[in-house]
Amino acid sequence: METTFQRIIRRTGRKPVSCKCRECQQQCRTCPCLGTPDDIERLIDAGYSDKLALTYWCVGQMFGAIPHPIRMVQAIQTDGGCIFFRDGLCELHECGLKPTEGRLSHHTTRLETFRFRNSLAWNVAKEWIDVRNDDTIQRIETKLKLRIL
Ligand code: SF4
Repeated sequence: METTFQRIIRRTGRKPVSCKCRECQQQCRTCPCLGTPDDIERLIDAGYSDKLALTYWCVGQMFGAIPHPIRMVQAIQTDGGCIFFRDGLCELHECGLKPTEGRLSHHTTRLETFRFRNSLAWNVAKEWIDVRNDDTIQRIETKLKLRIL
């Protein structure tokens, strides 16, 4: 059976990549990459609950893809960008816990080649409204004592 990660690779045409260039680092300084419910549950189970928070993803609404923001749990954004960004590196990289958008994102994506429907952020974000992930999201709700669905 196709995993969530494989589904996102198929829909976006992206491949796992690791790049430490200045442009990729700038993404981490701007805002946290998005994780699927599976990614976020793995982070909770690894002890990172205090670095996660409920958030409302509004980009899909801005593009007219969905009539409301999507509720999800993601890494906290600090004044310096993503809370997991330290000394120019992702704290989660070595332990294999980097969220899906970060694992598939690369600086070569340009505005002229951007198509929202195939975009990485949209395809990760909509996992939070996919009923196949309801069980995972309910476990996240219990573990973090908050309501997402
Ligand atoms: S989780 Fe890691 S890759 Fe994703 S934005 Fe934060 S520091 Fe960057």
